[in-house]
Amino acid sequence: MSYVTDFGTLFFPKYCSSCNRNLMHYEKAVCMHCLAHLPRLQMHDECDNAVDKLFWGRIELEAATAFLSMPRNGISHRLIHRLKYHGDQEVGERLGALFALELLESKRMKGVDVILPVPLHPKKLHVRGYNQCDCIARGMAEILGVEVSLNNLTRTHFTASQTRRGRISRWSNVKDVFWVREPEKLAGKRILLIDDVITTGATIEACAVPLRKIQGVQLSVAALAVPA
Ligand SMILES: [Zn+2]
Repeated sequence: MSYVTDFGTLFFPKYCSSCNRNLMHYEKAVCMHCLAHLPRLQMHDECDNAVDKLFWGRIELEAATAFLSMPRNGISHRLIHRLKYHGDQEVGERLGALFALELLESKRMKGVDVILPVPLHPKKLHVRGYNQCDCIARGMAEILGVEVSLNNLTRTHFTASQTRRGRISRWSNVKDVFWVREPEKLAGKRILLIDDVITTGATIEACAVPLRKIQGVQLSVAALAVPA
């Protein structure tokens, strides 16, 4: 079996999404060397970690965390850049799986019924062809053994003129509005909302508005990375 796979890699070599080294058959998207040097934050069980604090006084969450720190031009920055701008969906799935392995060990983060990727702006989705958060969510779902809910949480872009009318005045810095198509499907569920990179938290905050209105929902947030 491994002979066949090694033989295959002679003709269809795969490369590390960070350092471009040839991958061995047992390596997926990221080589062992880069894997060992991932800047893991390991803060999932700290209830006052940087991502939790970001949302204090803004939205009510069960827990929030992030997997990696993202210094400019570092390994995680290169990997996420590949995921977002070079069509490398496999690296998103791989990082999602690695993240989920840590969450399985976490007391605060492990109880999840459904994973919700933050929807991509429709224009960006059209250009990119895929939502990078869906890739992360797929990798996580496989490890956590839970479903990914796609297309239920929905994003629409409002024009500046509509925003000025005050329809979403509270979100004047986020002109995208989120809503849930079938809230009954999420009622009573422990939801894990997934984003690729959290900076100001405004997108997550906007997503939380319709989700928090659903009966019995417990909402947690997990981001692949936060800027260093
Ligand atoms: Zn590498």
